[in-house]
Amino acid sequence: MVEGPTAKAYAIKINREFNGEVVKDVLVKSFRRIHIPIGELLGKRFVNADSLGKNILLLFNGLAIRIHLMIYGTIHIYSVNESLLKPERLVRLIVKGCGKKLVVYNAPIVEIDKAENLTSRLKSELGPDPLSNNWDREKAIENLLKFKNEKIGVALLNQSIIAGVGNILRNEILFRAGINPERTIQSLKITEIEKIVDICELLSKEFLKMKIEEKRIGSLLLIYNKYNGNCKICGGKIKFYMQKPINRKTFVCTNCQK
Ligand SMILES: [Zn+2]
Repeated sequence: MVEGPTAKAYAIKINREFNGEVVKDVLVKSFRRIHIPIGELLGKRFVNADSLGKNILLLFNGLAIRIHLMIYGTIHIYSVNESLLKPERLVRLIVKGCGKKLVVYNAPIVEIDKAENLTSRLKSELGPDPLSNNWDREKAIENLLKFKNEKIGVALLNQSIIAGVGNILRNEILFRAGINPERTIQSLKITEIEKIVDICELLSKEFLKMKIEEKRIGSLLLIYNKYNGNCKICGGKIKFYMQKPINRKTFVCTNCQK
């Protein structure tokens, strides 16, 4: 599952390894989200990669490619003549430069448009991103407070409130904050909401650090996927259920999360 930190780590890797490439060829498997003639990318220089929430954005002199990897997507960078490590049928996008080629496998979303259109559309759909340089803590709090009847466990996955939180972060944030995912936002004290937002930022950054170092994030997981496990704080049994209506795996210590 690709969450904000994984998307950001990919952007950093692409900047490092695809730096300076000029597009010689492009292959896309689906034209559903291709809003410009694909040939317009030819001859354009790769300028920068960044993430917005769980999206990865590649910028090429006025044009942009958005990639959303969802669960199974990956991005690999090869030398231009190197053969692909995965089967051809999994390829969704290839951007070939002079020295390197960038290959996207299995991503359900590949979108190409003018950079201006793509970034403004994404920014209007997404809440503040704890991993962006202009992370807006106050706006994140304000956004949460607009959904007062929503359960906090549900709201944290809503990308228009805070961008980049996936199911792992959601579970780990609420455990660290000591908040039960079933609490509605209006039942939370403002200090509890601030705590959730601050842990969200800190933990996203810790996840990112591990991803950049290509380490497994296992050591950061205190509750996620701990089926029949015991709470690291009180020793009590961790409860597992699917939270409604989102039907996502949810782990909670009912002693520590009130
Ligand atoms: Zn506990």
